[in-house]
Amino acid sequence: MGVAGIAAASVGGLTGTATGDSQKSNTTALAAADPASVKQVAANSALDTQLAALSADARDFGDRASRTQERIDLRARQAADKKKREEEAARKEAMRPKFALPVTLHRLSARFGQSGVNWMSVHTGIDFPVFTGTPVMAATDGTVRTQLNSAYGNMVIVTAPDGTETWYCHLSSAKIRSGHVKAGDVIAYSGDSGNSTGPHLHFEVRPNGTAAIDPLPWLRSHGLDPTS
Ligand SMILES: [Zn+2]
Repeated sequence: MGVAGIAAASVGGLTGTATGDSQKSNTTALAAADPASVKQVAANSALDTQLAALSADARDFGDRASRTQERIDLRARQAADKKKREEEAARKEAMRPKFALPVTLHRLSARFGQSGVNWMSVHTGIDFPVFTGTPVMAATDGTVRTQLNSAYGNMVIVTAPDGTETWYCHLSSAKIRSGHVKAGDVIAYSGDSGNSTGPHLHFEVRPNGTAAIDPLPWLRSHGLDPTS
């Protein structure tokens, strides 16, 4: 072979090879590129989907966490509100007077221990000169019961938690006949029933339901004075 032949062969070879490779390469590239590219797109799409799902999960988790936190906050707030209401109720209960005068009138028409034609021995209570129908209030917290007595007339008796009985006598009517009352609750209306010479409220205090004591020092010991 001559130099030109080698050169030509070489060039031809090179050209041929280059062209062939190039074409083959292009063909391969084109042929291979499409599926690869599709796969990649598909893979990207799948990843996006996964990422989107993760992101949605994260949002859901965030939402759930947020809702859980809201429920915790709500419960904490409700508990705090309840505690506040209980403290307020306890404060009011502590502030509430536990003793009350049986009528608003601060005047007595008869005292304890007085003797007179109206009483079998001596007067066992104090009398308030009030008109018939005057509201009569519980002197203490306690439970209520009623009695009808020939001397005392219509009576309401309040038994305090410590056992002290307060008696409200000669009533025209009882407003509360049973159950629990608080000091100052209207329990009856005054009158002139039983052995009475005119409308008034006869009030007695009986520690543990036994013998009557003088209501005046008892009331005063609880910060109440029915005479002034
Ligand atoms: Zn009396």
